Amino acid sequence: MEIIRTVSQMQAAAEKMRKRGRKIALVPTMGFLHKGHLSLMRRALGLADTLVVSLFVNPVQFGPNEDLDQYPRDFEQDVVLARQTGVNILFAPEKDSLYPDGFDTYVVQEKLPVHLCGLCRPEHFRGVLTIVAKLFNIVKPHVAVFGEKDFQQLAVIRRMVADLNFDIDIVGHAIVREDDGLAMSSRNANLDGDGRKSARVLSGSLRSAAKMVADGEARAGTVIKKATVMILAESGTKIDYVNICAPDTLDDLDVIDRPALMAVAVKIGGVRLIDNIMLEPGQKNV
Ligand code: AMP
Repeated sequence: MEIIRTVSQMQAAAEKMRKRGRKIALVPTMGFLHKGHLSLMRRALGLADTLVVSLFVNPVQFGPNEDLDQYPRDFEQDVVLARQTGVNILFAPEKDSLYPDGFDTYVVQEKLPVHLCGLCRPEHFRGVLTIVAKLFNIVKPHVAVFGEKDFQQLAVIRRMVADLNFDIDIVGHAIVREDDGLAMSSRNANLDGDGRKSARVLSGSLRSAAKMVADGEARAGTVIKKATVMILAESGTKIDYVNICAPDTLDDLDVIDRPALMAVAVKIGGVRLIDNIMLEPGQKNV
């Protein structure tokens, strides 16, 4: 596995691979790799000849009072895991290589970001889209794999790729979970023992909601209220949002009469976790 630290070296390597007719897959990450990331990488290995994994904690997608400094990092461990998984190139640029003095151009999307996480994190998707567009231009992938755990992120990236004519296939990959249901996340490492126990309520509340809907409950308000009560019953939880929306537009739904996305964001002891599930209405309410 080659480790590349600068934009110019990565661009040169990508150009060389393309000239040789190699198909390039990209998996962007912020590092502190876990089994969710590794599952994305294995998926990507099956889609291309060369796998590039980027590892960069992108400061531009963090707000001023967010956890940029607390975000977990372990470069040595990431190198070992990436190598074991069969990554060909680990692209781990320094901040100055991506954002040199004078940097002043951002990618902004109008509608999809004004929902879910974008309401609590107003600058977040501008940062995400900017770094992903830059990575696409630097790594020149044919295909890129993103996790459905960040459902809104996947939606805004698909929109950008369509709108700005990036010639790249975007592949969504299912959420990878711990045995007790908690969605894997680098941020889980920042939970203390009690927080880790409370965190089970995210997936637990989503599973209960999916069952309610499959059993015939079609009122989004009722489903949201039940999940809210469940989440707040756990110690140390603070809700950012509990939402049911259309998976394509992310517009709120009042009635669940078609497959709907239910998404939650909850802070536990200051650690912000997200999760989501698709709600499939049962026969009774169609
Ligand atoms: P991150 O390092 O958290 O920015 O995540 C990098 C990529 O891995 C994103 O596309 C995430 O959606 C994806 N990802 C993170 N956690 C999971 C998970 N538990 N299951 C599936 N994909 C994940």
